[in-house]
Amino acid sequence: MDLSPITARMPSHARIGIGPGWYGLLLALDKELAALAPDYVVWQVKQDGGGMDVVARLNGDLDEMSLRAFRAAIRDARKESLRTCEECGDYGWLVLDGTWYATLCPEHADEARARRLGR
Ligand SMILES: [Zn+2]
Repeated sequence: MDLSPITARMPSHARIGIGPGWYGLLLALDKELAALAPDYVVWQVKQDGGGMDVVARLNGDLDEMSLRAFRAAIRDARKESLRTCEECGDYGWLVLDGTWYATLCPEHADEARARRLGR
């Protein structure tokens, strides 16, 4: 999947720290945000607490309604990521294992556990 619409908005040192299963969510989010604020900046994209965490900054002001829509789009994308496997994009759910959180389908949850156990 071509992530250049996102990377073009990121500082050069930043990287996209999520799995491929969420790339579609990220690209859809970018379209929504770009429609509201064409020159917005993506500061960070990472997995946090099992969900997709996007930190975006505005260049300039936005009216109150657009600002609300901007924030809601980011929130909604995170909600969606919490039921989407980060590895493959299939339906997934939050897996808790000690201090480790991830949103994965059953298959990738098993794989991740096996990796963690060093098997
Ligand atoms: Zn999966």
